[in-house]
Amino acid sequence: MNRRDFLKTSGLAFGALALPGCMEGLNLSGKSSQRPNILFIMSDDHAAQAMSCYASKINKTPNLDRIANEGIRFDNCFCTNSICTPSRATILTGKYSHKNGCLTLSDRFDATQQTFPKLLQKAGYHTAVIGKWHLKTEPTGFDYWNVLPGQGKYFDPVMSERRNFSPYENYVTDIITDLALDFLKTRPKDKPFCLCYHHKAPHDMWEYDKKHAHLYEDIDIPEPDNFFDDYKNRGRAIKRATQKIGMEETVFLHGTQGDQFDNVRREIADLPPEQQKRRAYQYFIKAYLRCVASIDENTGRVLNYLDETGLKNNTIVIYTSDQGCFLGEHGLFDKRFMYEESLRMPLIVRYPREVKPGSVNDDIVLNVDFAETFLDYAGAPLPSDMQGRSLRPLLRGKRPKNWRTSMYYRYWMHGAHFNVAAHFGVRTKRYKLIYYYGLPLNAKGAKRRPTPPEWELFDLKKDLREMNNVYRDPAYRAVVRKLKTELVRLRRELEDDNDGIVIDVG
Ligand code: CA
Repeated sequence: MNRRDFLKTSGLAFGALALPGCMEGLNLSGKSSQRPNILFIMSDDHAAQAMSCYASKINKTPNLDRIANEGIRFDNCFCTNSICTPSRATILTGKYSHKNGCLTLSDRFDATQQTFPKLLQKAGYHTAVIGKWHLKTEPTGFDYWNVLPGQGKYFDPVMSERRNFSPYENYVTDIITDLALDFLKTRPKDKPFCLCYHHKAPHDMWEYDKKHAHLYEDIDIPEPDNFFDDYKNRGRAIKRATQKIGMEETVFLHGTQGDQFDNVRREIADLPPEQQKRRAYQYFIKAYLRCVASIDENTGRVLNYLDETGLKNNTIVIYTSDQGCFLGEHGLFDKRFMYEESLRMPLIVRYPREVKPGSVNDDIVLNVDFAETFLDYAGAPLPSDMQGRSLRPLLRGKRPKNWRTSMYYRYWMHGAHFNVAAHFGVRTKRYKLIYYYGLPLNAKGAKRRPTPPEWELFDLKKDLREMNNVYRDPAYRAVVRKLKTELVRLRRELEDDNDGIVIDVG
C-alpha cells in the first residue's frame, strides 16, 4: 500500500499526518524523539488466570496476548491493597495506601497531592483519562478527562466530560474505546501523550454486551481444582469470609443481567448445595468472561489504530487490572485477600524500542512502581517521596542487583465487605506470611468488633494453591522468624509501623 492509499483507507486527514511529530518518533527537528507516548490500559478486577497469555484454562484473549507476544509479561506483579479505589490511588501517586490517604473504599482521594499525570504534564506530556476513575474527587493533572461517575453503568452510561454530564448509548467498553480512539485522533500532535484508558469491566455486576450473549453457551467452563475447598488447615479468616460462590451470600447478589438473575436463582433453588454451587459458578464465570471478551476485542481496535498510524514503535502500551480476582479458586469470587489470585495483577507491556518480544519477567513488581516507570520514560525527575521503583531496567531485560526480594501488603477494611478481616503480610518468591491483626483501625472498621489475631504461612513452592497453613509447623520455625523480621523491616521502611501493632519476632 502506498502512502496515498494508506491515508485514504485509514481515514486520516492528509493535513494531520503531515504535521511534524505525528509520524512515530519524529519531533520538530526531524530527529528521533526519545520520549515515548504512554497508553495505559487498565481494567477492573481482570484476573491474570482469565488471559490466555497467562495460560488461562477458561478463555482466549488473542488481542491482549498480542501485547505479551510483542512485548513482556510480568509473572509476579502484585497489588499492595487489593481493592479498587486504593489500588488506583497507589498507581497515581506511587505511594502505599497509608501515605496517599486512600486506605479503604470510603476514602476520598486528595486530588491536590502529587500524581504521575501532574508530573507528566509538567514534563510536556498531553495527558488524558477516559473511562473508570472511581476516586470520588475529580481528576486532576489531565488535559482531557471523560469519566464514569462512581462505578458507572454497563449500558447507556452517563459520563462526565470535564464536569459536563452526558448520556452515551450502548455498551460501556465500546464507548470508552470510541472515546479513547477519538482522543488519539484529535490530540495535539506536537507533544507526546499519556492516555489512561480505563475500563469498568469486568467488575461486578457482570453485564455483558448482547453480542457476546452466546459465547460459552453450550459448554461448561472448567472449575478450578480447589473449587470445593473445605478450608481445613487454614485460619478463621477465610472460613468467616462470605465471598463464596453458591446460593447463600453469593455471586447472586452481585451478578445480574436483567431477569436472568431471578431466573437462574429460581432454576437452581431446589438443587442440592453442591449442584447449586456448580451452577452458580457457571453463571458467574460465563458472564465475567463475556465482559472480558469485549475488553479483548476493543484492545485489538486500539492496537490496530496504533499500528496503522505508525505510532507502534514510539508508544508504550501497558495492560493491567487494578488488582486480581478469585474466579472460583477456594470457592471464592471478588478479591481483598492476600491470597495469590487476588494479590496478582496481570501486567503486560509492549514497547518495541526497548522490550524484546516474548520476554517474561518473574521479579516482584508492584502497582506502586507504575508512576515512577512512566516518569522515567518521560525523562522527568523521580520524586524522592514516591515509594516504588521504575520498571524500566526490567523492561530492558536488565535486573538491578538490588531489586526487591519481598513485598508488603495491607488490606484495611476490617469486616466491611464479605466479612473479610483486615490483614497485612509479606510475600517473597517462595513464602507468604499473613497476619490478620484483628483490630479495626480505620474509620469504617472502628465501628466493627475486633477479632482474635492469627497468622498464616504458605510455602508457595510446595503449595501454590495456598491450601495448607504451615505457620505452626516446627519445620518452618526459622522461616517464620525470618519473615517476621522482614515484615517488621518493611513496615518501618515504608513508615506503616505507627499503628500500635507490635510483632513479636520471637
Ligand atoms: Ca477493582
